[in-house]
Amino acid sequence: MNATKQAQTPQPRPLPPAPSNMNEAWTTVVRRGGRKAQASLDPRLVPAAAAPQAMGRTVAGTKKKGRKPRKPRAPRSAAVVLELLPAAKEKGLTYGEVMAQARCSVDIDAIGVEGGIRVRHTANGARLLECPGADSGVAADKLATRLREILPDSQVVRIERPVRMAEIKVTGLDECATKVEVAAAIASQGNCALAQVKVGELRSCYSGTFTVWARCPVQAAILLATPPQGRPADSPGKLRVGWVIAHVQLQEARPWRCLRCFGTGHGLARCPSSVDRSGLCFRCGQPGHKAASCTAAAPHCVLCDAVKRRALF
Ligand SMILES: [Zn+2]
Ligand SMILES: [Zn+2]
Ligand SMILES: [Zn+2]
Repeated sequence: MNATKQAQTPQPRPLPPAPSNMNEAWTTVVRRGGRKAQASLDPRLVPAAAAPQAMGRTVAGTKKKGRKPRKPRAPRSAAVVLELLPAAKEKGLTYGEVMAQARCSVDIDAIGVEGGIRVRHTANGARLLECPGADSGVAADKLATRLREILPDSQVVRIERPVRMAEIKVTGLDECATKVEVAAAIASQGNCALAQVKVGELRSCYSGTFTVWARCPVQAAILLATPPQGRPADSPGKLRVGWVIAHVQLQEARPWRCLRCFGTGHGLARCPSSVDRSGLCFRCGQPGHKAASCTAAAPHCVLCDAVKRRALF
């Protein structure tokens, strides 16, 4: 009886024999001697030490082709938005007049805008003043400040300096790290204003460390997520928080989401949907609370639900 029981207990499967081609590669390379360069082109002939790295590279390459990651890129220009508010209409003020006033009062060359400004119209008719160049942020800041000085008060003309944001994941934080501390570290080491940094809730991981997601200007995110010199391109960047050196990874750009219908590709102001879901929780689809305070055990997608219902009836 004992013997049968023993026979029934599953035995660990014997490991397959170690691949022999690695050794073969070595011997082949050695045997061929002078033709090393040609031999290394054959994947079977790559020396054992180099093989895993080479394989990793090919895997990463094919992955990229299948589903291209939408990593945020640094903006090639910086913009200032000039918008006439309803009070301007009451006063009979037009964009033409305001733009003319701006042009004769602000010397853009003195501010440091090189190559002129491109003026475009936004969806709601406001003017988008684009300063070309990846490092034109400072000039755009100055332009916004000057426009606020010379144009009528903020109840009539709104001057905004929109900054493109990106999301980063900070891992490896210790238990004494706080949101405030992480935000301060991102601002000082990412070279951006503290007001532009938003840090989420810290979450504990299996390893006992903490992880947090944060939003900051794209340039800061790219700077922080850049691996230290000499490290592979896919390794994380570093962020010093307190005593700890945490890791920073740039997150994929998320699709533009409508706050009214939860659909993608358009904003609240131009929502074409007949359904208003703005009162529902984005995570579980129930009314009465928001996603940040959602206690539902599992997320529930209302968009998929609507598609299913349409298919049934
Ligand atoms: Zn919508
Ligand atoms: Zn919910
Ligand atoms: Zn869905």
